[in-house]
Amino acid sequence: MTAVRIDGRPLADRLRASIDEELQVLRLSEIDPGLATVLVGDDPAAAAYERHVQRLAEGLGYHYVCDRLAGDVATADALATIGKLNADPRVTGILVLRPLPAHLDEADLDSTVDPRKDIEAAHPVNAGLLALGKPRFVPSTPASCFYALDAYLRSSGRDPAGFYAGAVICVVGRSSSVGKPAQWLALHRNASVISCHSRTFAAGRLPELTSIADVLLVAAGVPRLITRDMVRPGAIVLDVGFHQLDDGSIVGDVDPDVAEVAEAITPVPGGIGPITDVWLVGNTLAAAAIARQVEPRFGTSG
Ligand code: NAP
Repeated sequence: MTAVRIDGRPLADRLRASIDEELQVLRLSEIDPGLATVLVGDDPAAAAYERHVQRLAEGLGYHYVCDRLAGDVATADALATIGKLNADPRVTGILVLRPLPAHLDEADLDSTVDPRKDIEAAHPVNAGLLALGKPRFVPSTPASCFYALDAYLRSSGRDPAGFYAGAVICVVGRSSSVGKPAQWLALHRNASVISCHSRTFAAGRLPELTSIADVLLVAAGVPRLITRDMVRPGAIVLDVGFHQLDDGSIVGDVDPDVAEVAEAITPVPGGIGPITDVWLVGNTLAAAAIARQVEPRFGTSG
């Protein structure tokens, strides 16, 4: 079997078109989105992502603000920058880029962002709303996984609601930004959920659990962690991992050989990544609507 490739780029284009459409409608009511990114230090991946997000936001005509702070910035100054963005009415969404230098406490920064501008749902209030199934914002990467999966299921003639109710979804990774919210999204779709992490791996139980899943969502940050013997034949595999190897090649958390047993798989690059970028600007638009007490069409259905 050679797996169907779930190509993220056309899905991202479709999503962008729907954002543009909603943007035109909201602009009639003078609702204008504004995105701010906060980059601390000089991590090349974070800097590249910042430029990418800027291009996307400006391409849609958003107001864009970029705050760059030195890698040794004092916590008080980093928090003051977030405070300034919270107070700026032209900024509707704030993204604090990762990784942060070790001396800064991520949780401190996340909980300082105004929850109505917290487009990655990292603030405890938004994380709680998501866990309760009433999200204000759905974090972009897990949201994109389910956007891709819903689209694939429909394109292959299946009703997503019916599929999820009978499906076992295994999520490898439990980070607050990807793995945990992905588990909430799967549960709220009525799937049966298995959660795996580094201790599952250390206990030697990862293959046993991944191989009973109908859907395997992998966000472990370990290149080619999942090999074909760990995947049930006919499973759908969503690969969130993104790694540049020394030879310059890009790989995910899933070995390409998995395509020989899976029904469908997201490629790396070109799978979940392109959708994630667009989702973020969609959340910025939703935040602009929410700031004006307008119910956004984009992205809050979890
Ligand atoms: P993270 O914060 O480092 O979390 C990694 C998670 O994987 C942790 O929960 C960890 O377990 C678990 N883990 C680590 N080694 C494992 C192993 N050998 N077996 C099973 N579980 C293991 O990473 P993240 O931010 O969630 O990102 C994960 C990956 O996705 C990275 O490659 C990142 O570059 C990529 N990413 C891609 C996108 C995109 O849009 N495509 C967006 C965000 C991230 P413990 O909790 O026990 O430590």
